[in-house]
Amino acid sequence: MHLRRSIGGRDLDYLDPFLLLDHFESDDPNDYLAGFPLHPHRGIETVTYMLAGEVDHKDTIGNAGTIGPGDVQWMTAGGGLMHEEMPRPREGKMGGFQLWVNMPAKLKLSRPRYQELADASIPLVERPDGARVRVVAGRRDEVRGPVTEIYADPEYLDVELPAGADFVQPVPRGHAAFAYVFRGEGEFGDACDLGYRGDLDGSLIKALGLVVFGDGDQVRVHAYKSPVRFLLVSGAPLGEPIARYGPFVMNTREEIEQALDDLHAGTFIWEEGHPKE
Ligand code: FE
Repeated sequence: MHLRRSIGGRDLDYLDPFLLLDHFESDDPNDYLAGFPLHPHRGIETVTYMLAGEVDHKDTIGNAGTIGPGDVQWMTAGGGLMHEEMPRPREGKMGGFQLWVNMPAKLKLSRPRYQELADASIPLVERPDGARVRVVAGRRDEVRGPVTEIYADPEYLDVELPAGADFVQPVPRGHAAFAYVFRGEGEFGDACDLGYRGDLDGSLIKALGLVVFGDGDQVRVHAYKSPVRFLLVSGAPLGEPIARYGPFVMNTREEIEQALDDLHAGTFIWEEGHPKE
């Protein structure tokens, strides 16, 4: 799969509680048709947000279906599940994001959970100036996103601003926050001083780029001469040690070894009365 990884790579290993951010976008089927055949996860949540194309998925807790443009899949692996994610192009295009959110030690072996949110169930806040905000999780003005009961108390917004628009979003103090700019360009607070990664043109952040915000109580964005579209994501850091190995993210090496042992022994998948819980 052809991916742009902006969190979870060499430049930015971990932005507690966010372990990984992948952006996939392509009109060449060779980039994505291999997909992700059946594979395990433990200790994390994966959030898939589609822009184009479709992904067929199924998992070991009985979910199966197809997610398409605008749909969101919020998958809590907890103590262990296996799933497959197989892209299906629509008019040859495929695009979207996958974010991994870490889980606290006390929930890492909890019951897996799956939330699928159709495009139509994700509220859209439209302003008179043409700004559009899709609220996947968290809050914009008085509008709440449909993804709930996630430990990291995440906010996940898809924001489109027309040229000249200003945008301010409150962020709880102490939460990690980032913006991933995937269309156009804009000014992002004092992003230039805050660990920005990507192409920089003066004070403008251009697609594709990740802006990591420092601590504060709000995020400010200004679309200058052209429109901008970005994901704005924040969440409460866990402040716990992590041990990661591919699709498993635990707190210690021993717990990773346990995951591998469970996989080999055929006891990986979470079950009621799971001895490890
Ligand atoms: Fe997966």
